[in-house]
Amino acid sequence: MDRKVRVRFAPSPTGPLHIGGVRTALYNYIFAKQNGGDLILRIEDTDSRRFVPGAEEYINNALAWLGITFDEGVKEGGKYGPYRQSERKAIYREYVDKLLDAGKAYIAFDTPEELEEAREKIPNFQYDAHTRGKMRNSLVMPKEEVDRLIADGTQYVVRFKVEPDHEVVVNDLIRGEVRINSNIIDDKVLFKSADNLPTYHLANIVDDHLMEVTHVIRGEEWLPSAPLHVLLYEAFGWKDTMPQFVHLPLLLKPVGNGKLSKRDGDKLGFPVFLLEWKDPVTGEISSGYREKGYLPEAVVNFLALLGWNPGDDTEMMSIDDLISKFSFEHCSKSGAKFDYKKGIWFNHEYLQKADNARLAELLKPTLEANGVKDCDPDYVAKAIALVKGRAELVPDLWTQGDFFFKAPETYAEKDVKKRWSAETPRIMEELIGVLEGIDDMSSANAEKIVLDWIAENGYHLGNVMNAFRLCVVGACRGPHMFDITELLPKEEVISRIRKAIETIPSPEN
Ligand code: GLU
Repeated sequence: MDRKVRVRFAPSPTGPLHIGGVRTALYNYIFAKQNGGDLILRIEDTDSRRFVPGAEEYINNALAWLGITFDEGVKEGGKYGPYRQSERKAIYREYVDKLLDAGKAYIAFDTPEELEEAREKIPNFQYDAHTRGKMRNSLVMPKEEVDRLIADGTQYVVRFKVEPDHEVVVNDLIRGEVRINSNIIDDKVLFKSADNLPTYHLANIVDDHLMEVTHVIRGEEWLPSAPLHVLLYEAFGWKDTMPQFVHLPLLLKPVGNGKLSKRDGDKLGFPVFLLEWKDPVTGEISSGYREKGYLPEAVVNFLALLGWNPGDDTEMMSIDDLISKFSFEHCSKSGAKFDYKKGIWFNHEYLQKADNARLAELLKPTLEANGVKDCDPDYVAKAIALVKGRAELVPDLWTQGDFFFKAPETYAEKDVKKRWSAETPRIMEELIGVLEGIDDMSSANAEKIVLDWIAENGYHLGNVMNAFRLCVVGACRGPHMFDITELLPKEEVISRIRKAIETIPSPEN
């Protein structure tokens, strides 16, 4: 089979895209690129009860932020459209009728109450070859009655007629052959007259077929549906072009067992969504990787390694590296623990590699939130260069380097206690004089002059330098002192020293 690789990401717009779905989209993207194939974004919105306004736009924006682009989709267009399932109603109806005509599906009128009653009466009830004869459907009712009920507008569903007692084989690239007996599959609802819409199973299969999808790469939670999907391909006579299944390992909680949930994120303080999301009903805000200050390339690298490894211990991989190294052979069957701390580590590493002008742009909202407006981007970039080594997330650039943007308002008590003695104000006055005499404030030059002055006067190096730092930074922290004073305007440095002399009370003795 040498069909062109065509894969799809098929989210349901039921809310913000969960990080597990993002990883699925990423693997589809990587696989498509690796094989020179097409990636489709298909919106599976046939469950009108679960539709959430804004979710589709969110999915687009979130994946665009990560750098995942699609070849076909609602926005991109393409010759297999429409790409929103709610716009494909007529297509599905046609395929439902095909199954009905071939006797591979049937019409059922059972009301919710009748189904409930069956569940109560029959232990482990499922609608299948053993029970369908006792229910109200077109297999047991005379044709005239079925026609009359439909003509009267009675609501019905179309169910898939699963043949009992045979083995269904799902071939999965990660899991190998998964075999199950058809007896455990129930006669799934494929279509509901109430909203004239197909269910997920039918729409998904019909679209994968019509869109010529070659590989279905999706989360492990869909593995239980796969045998039914195989049967549907057979029923339609499409077995030869059935896509290759790939069910990706689950994302597990960082601690304990079970599937990663939004609650884990809330509890441990990490986002499970790419972008911040405001629930349109409750107004509740969920945090996003972007707003927390992660870089998209760090999130890509981190997510790619959840359930896959390159076969060695390489960790830092660009999207191009991932595209060349990725293979399903190195995907694990078992779930991947969501080690969010590793995500922070990756972000720190990528911050070091990131262009400072880009980081300056990303830091803007944080600067503005702290009252720093219209700062020269070049100045911001230089400040970032000095403090990024200590930053994990973008806003840390502010906490590490706030003194580049405003003079300290307070002075760290414990540092004052340790470094501010009765003679410090006099020495700082002297330092002002020394600084005033320096024309070239470049780091090495200023350092030499100031250190010479300290040595000539026999001052205590540590005490003087730390007092200097206290005046300029407000605490004994930050990068090399003379790198700071190279960047800050000299008058600003001097005015900060003056202010500290006036503000910091002299110790008692
Ligand atoms: N609409 C399903 C979802 O929300 C798609 C599952 C699949 O990829 O087949 O994930």
